[in-house]
Amino acid sequence: MCASNSETKNYLAIATDPLHIGAGSARLARVDLPIAREPGTNLPKVPGPGVSGPARAYTALATSRYRWKEGKDEYLCAGSGGPGGEKHCGRPDPACPVCIPYGFSKGTGSMQGLAQFFDAHILFFPVASMSGPLWVTSPTALSGPGVDREIPDPEKCFLPLGAQLKKGGQRLNFGWLMLSKSNKDNNDVSEQIDTITGLPETIKTKSVLVSDKLFSQIVNNNLEVRTSVSIDPATGAAEDKALFTYEALPRGTVLRFDVQYNPGYTYRINKKELKTEDGGEVGSSWVKVQVEKGLKLFASLGIGGMNTRGMGRLKVLNLGEEAAGNE
Ligand SMILES: [Zn+2]
Repeated sequence: MCASNSETKNYLAIATDPLHIGAGSARLARVDLPIAREPGTNLPKVPGPGVSGPARAYTALATSRYRWKEGKDEYLCAGSGGPGGEKHCGRPDPACPVCIPYGFSKGTGSMQGLAQFFDAHILFFPVASMSGPLWVTSPTALSGPGVDREIPDPEKCFLPLGAQLKKGGQRLNFGWLMLSKSNKDNNDVSEQIDTITGLPETIKTKSVLVSDKLFSQIVNNNLEVRTSVSIDPATGAAEDKALFTYEALPRGTVLRFDVQYNPGYTYRINKKELKTEDGGEVGSSWVKVQVEKGLKLFASLGIGGMNTRGMGRLKVLNLGEEAAGNE
């Protein structure tokens, strides 16, 4: 018995469409459908369930557990499994690739998932500047992947991180905000950013570090606000007063999120141990492989609301070989 070898993996993902993860019932004066935000910083984020929900559905899709039958029973492992979760299979042997990693709530045999999802935060945010597109980041955003750097003069300075920007001008003009280049040495930060696995080269060479306060302002000033129209499904016509606006993270936003994978060695479901297809033990790497089958489909099927409107596709940049391999 060994419960100690859980693994936390940091994922990096880039939005290839605008991304709208709703804030639920909250409504701002400015937009009808705002995106979810971190209360302290006011920065947009994707709450953990906004990641685990679609991941569960897509793992079910990838492993043919969306709707499946065994004998007379029919199971729906993909979603909530019906009102009491009674449509989840909860199978321990061989372990269901959906119910075991993501959890199930079937009567007495309920179980928390072996994968635990954390909120996704913005790591790099794309903005237009007078000198072309740039990605901004902040000390707090970078502290996630373990990069440690403060801004020398946080109210009005930026620190260029990419090679191209180091050669560039002394000022950064966002139209509504002008920042001066800090002349502090930045090689240590650039080197650390180079070690972030999966980060595209264009972002590495065109990124700037600004203070946490400016980061929040820049992000909130550059969100997409779109207008759409609700269609009445019965008539196919636009509903009366159905024009609504919604916020979205722009294409090119880089998000970072953690998933903790726990092994299932100590679990028993109806007194049965968890086993893999080939009779092995359910370790954290098995859990990770099942989840990554779902994460991989974010790139084609998207997450969040409105992904029928050309929204929500999110490419996870550092999947393990098993998931990334069979493209
Ligand atoms: Zn199941």
